[in-house]
Amino acid sequence: MSFDYDLFVIGGGSGGVRAARVAAATGAKVALAEEYRMGGTCVIRGCVPKKLMVFASGYSEMFDDARAYGWDVQDGPFDWGRFRKKLHAELDRLEGIYRKLLDGSGVEICDARAVIKDAHTVSLSTGKDVTAKHILVATGGHPVVPEIDGAELGITSNEVFLLNEMPKSILIVGGGYIASEFAGILNGLGVEVTQFYRGAQILRGFDDEARGLVAEGMRDKGIDLHLGTNIVEMRQATAEDRNEEGHAEGMPMEQGRPASVAPSGDGKGIWVKATNGTTKVYDQVLFATGRTPNTTNLGLQEAGITVGRRGEIVVDEFSQTNIPSIYAIGDVTNRVQLTPVAIREGMAFVETVFKGNPTPVDHALIPSAVFTQPELGTVGLTEEEARDIEPVEIYCSSFKPMNHAFAGREDRVLMKLVVSKETRKVLGCHIVADHAGEMIQLVGIAVKMGATKEDFDRTVAVHPTMAEELVTMKEPLRSA
Ligand code: FAD
Repeated sequence: MSFDYDLFVIGGGSGGVRAARVAAATGAKVALAEEYRMGGTCVIRGCVPKKLMVFASGYSEMFDDARAYGWDVQDGPFDWGRFRKKLHAELDRLEGIYRKLLDGSGVEICDARAVIKDAHTVSLSTGKDVTAKHILVATGGHPVVPEIDGAELGITSNEVFLLNEMPKSILIVGGGYIASEFAGILNGLGVEVTQFYRGAQILRGFDDEARGLVAEGMRDKGIDLHLGTNIVEMRQATAEDRNEEGHAEGMPMEQGRPASVAPSGDGKGIWVKATNGTTKVYDQVLFATGRTPNTTNLGLQEAGITVGRRGEIVVDEFSQTNIPSIYAIGDVTNRVQLTPVAIREGMAFVETVFKGNPTPVDHALIPSAVFTQPELGTVGLTEEEARDIEPVEIYCSSFKPMNHAFAGREDRVLMKLVVSKETRKVLGCHIVADHAGEMIQLVGIAVKMGATKEDFDRTVAVHPTMAEELVTMKEPLRSA
């Protein structure tokens, strides 16, 4: 049977673009459909714009630090309009690069929504049906908003980058990494940030000691974090609500970008009633309460593809669905929702299907960072996970680093190793510090190689650094 393509990829995000390019490089005839903007969540409304906002927000503390180090600098207001214009120009540039890379690899781009019709057929929103020997679903996910009265007044991470005005105050709902990162970003940009999380501590799933220190640091920097708290009800605020609260208007911005999000509640703000009995008016409410796979109206049921409880496409270790010609990678499979993982899954798919080298995806010991302020870097098991599996030793050091101490800042850092008592292997490493993401990338190599505590100890320290603590912690703080 002959097909229009060897591979049809649905979704031009991190996983889809990489898989399409690498498959085309093997000589396969490849097409890719993207319904929104090339680059997907990571480039257009995830990692990249978020990290640029992290950088922007970090400057607020630098004025104080610079003065402490002898510089004569004055604080100035943050100009969201100026930053936003540059941010979107950068995203446009990156999107252009993604298109060029696909073009250059010989991948045919379809600017359309694609829906699966059967095991080998895809219907495009342009009205065309195309056939392919293999179909790869890489449609990613989207934010979910809780079912609360008035929730439609809030925004999600998708809209943050499009705000045409920085709110003066914001309520962020959620305790995951996206909620916590935006709390830090907006706080750093001068927004009055309140964060509600219904659980007992933010960053569930990360090491308890590390998440505790991050939460403490966030509070010290001015975030009004409320744990065990949620919204009961929200509605557009009235003039009386605002008068009672004494709120000012949002900060003005430069006009001019077409796609933008207006202030919530007609600029009057949003009145929120919380489970702790308080009521308050916020300029914006941001829901970062989880993400769900993009699997609705994708033709999955019609094609007989198994979908899991959380709406994810169920795949095996080779990313193959129950329909042999259809594979799925990235966030739509709800395995590990990170860009480098989606890319890995895409590469493993090509290795398996187009290079005749069956390659399961390795999801073990993935290093990752949370770009909160303070930043968290982590790889391997948390102390809590490890001690449930085997006896462990905990090496831990928490201190005020020299740059902060000199500047008179209170921020402490954490360097923590979870070590197996029996094998001496470092099972986990957790760092809370400036640039923890950069550090954990390198520690990740050692941990992935199976380094023992003694291997760490044999490594000479780099002095003076924060990370030298990782190779100089002689005695365990505790055994568990
Ligand atoms: P996506 O990148 O989401 O791409 C899917 C694409 O498919 C989208 O472009 C979508 O428009 C398109 N699409 C969907 N349905 C169809 C259809 N039917 N037809 C055609 N096209 C379709 N990860 C990190 O590693 N580090 C970070 O710091 C980080 N920060 C993040 C911050 C935020 C705010 C968010 C939301 C995510 C962040 N992530 C981060 C996660 C990361 O963005 C995702 O894991 C990654 O983008 C997943 O890639 P993907 O290819 O599976 O899907």
